[in-house]
Amino acid sequence: MAKAGGKNSGRKLGTRLAHSGRDRGLTRGGVNPTVQRASTILVESADQLYAPGVWTYGRHGTGTHDALKAALCELEGAAHCQLAPSGLLACTLPILALTTAGDHVLVTDNCYGPTRRFAERMLKRLGVEAEFYDPRIKDISAKLRPNTKAVFIESPGSLTFEISDTPAMTAAARAAGVVSIFDNSWSAGVCHKPLALGADIVVQSTSKYVSGGADVLGGAVLTNDAKLAERVKETATDLGLAVSPDDAYTLLRGLRTLETRMAQCSASALDVARWLAQRPEVDHVIHPALPSHADHELWKRDFSGASGLFGLVLKPAAPKKVHAFLDALELFGLGFSYGGFESLAIHCDPQVKRTVAKPTLAGPLIRISIGLEDPADLCADLESGLAALK
Ligand SMILES: *Cc1c(COP(=O)(O)O)cnc(C)c1O
Repeated sequence: MAKAGGKNSGRKLGTRLAHSGRDRGLTRGGVNPTVQRASTILVESADQLYAPGVWTYGRHGTGTHDALKAALCELEGAAHCQLAPSGLLACTLPILALTTAGDHVLVTDNCYGPTRRFAERMLKRLGVEAEFYDPRIKDISAKLRPNTKAVFIESPGSLTFEISDTPAMTAAARAAGVVSIFDNSWSAGVCHKPLALGADIVVQSTSKYVSGGADVLGGAVLTNDAKLAERVKETATDLGLAVSPDDAYTLLRGLRTLETRMAQCSASALDVARWLAQRPEVDHVIHPALPSHADHELWKRDFSGASGLFGLVLKPAAPKKVHAFLDALELFGLGFSYGGFESLAIHCDPQVKRTVAKPTLAGPLIRISIGLEDPADLCADLESGLAALK
């Protein structure tokens, strides 16, 4: 686990992301860390073989991994980072670390679909009860039981973008000795700092904004709590999780430019969202930074900005028309994920699986990820799509 701090702390995020994880022991004089492709790492002498903190075997990490961990700690304001080979594993790992048969966990009803599937399928098989809660719940303490081990928060929620009252939820959880876990993939840690708002653990899919390139998968689990960090690490070790050094290097390369890319994606997304909001084919846009968003005030209180991912609800249209809208787009790739340099669009209705707080949507739900293309070009592309709805 890498440590944050040193003279880099106190500087602005862009500066810290450019300079963290670059001490000479990791870079050997290069600007970037070396990529150490290793299963076996040879030690200098026999007394090093079992010494703590020595790189000995690839599964436990190399200098390449340590450089990425240090930079991710800067990003989230964390002291400890565990890497995972995917964002989904970053979500499930802390839950696996904290629970045993007979336990209960609370999971937000609008979480990322595969996180929900893990809760419904694997946790159930392990004898852990997952209860879904309304992301707009006023007081979560009433839902906490003696056997509740974790509250899993994701805000804005996947697909429907509700903002939860994170400080209230993390405070209630902490008061009851329950660990809060926050999926921060939407903000990538640039414009939202859940650890500072009381979350015990923050997780991210680094496949999204940290990478920025749509060419690598990764996840990270971060915390300031040494005991929690140890439990997560132990679970990762027991499961045999490993992250390729090439993937770690690629993610770190993306992370260096994260703040600049996010500023551009965020500004363009607001332009596109405002343009869409006044189109007659659109029922409404779901973007937390727009005053029309139901949780705009909470967003203003707890976030310092927005990413490039938002939703829109079309006026009622047959599925064939929705497909025609998407198929007419040239700049927007039709594909899952977000955070890359390329814009993406999907229709979401087949994916919205809710049991507690079903959203009322007036028409088809579309999710848009804005990349680095010019927003005027993106609006023109969307205009051709909307024309195909007729
Ligand atoms: C994409 C995503 C994940 C999963 O990340 P992968 O890297 O694709 O495994 C988890 N949570 C959220 C909110 C996501 O958007």
